[in-house]
Amino acid sequence: MNEQVLALKVENERLKLALDDAIRKLALEKARADESTLRIQEIARQCALAEANAGRTPAEQDRDTGNLVAIVCAWCHKLIRYEVWPEPMGTSHGICVDCAKRMESQLQKGVRGTK
Ligand SMILES: [Zn+2]
Repeated sequence: MNEQVLALKVENERLKLALDDAIRKLALEKARADESTLRIQEIARQCALAEANAGRTPAEQDRDTGNLVAIVCAWCHKLIRYEVWPEPMGTSHGICVDCAKRMESQLQKGVRGTK
């Protein structure tokens, strides 16, 4: 009986360690994914600024920095792009390519609601 209890305790300890390890790995993966998202957003910001600033004088370029607007799909909430607007707006809405395709195909099929 004592041997069985001991074996169970050992197995229990082994499972706890494996679980801790899996949790650590998941946390690491999440941190990497978050970092990638931030990098992608930063690249998108830089691209939006570069596009908006093309042909502008340096004085005009300087005032754009605070006016980045994230354009988000109103259907699936995916970030579509950043734009630089005359005033800071935070977020505005559009439609992404995937949702636009879905909407177009639904319109072509003549979706008229349920009968
Ligand atoms: Zn969408």
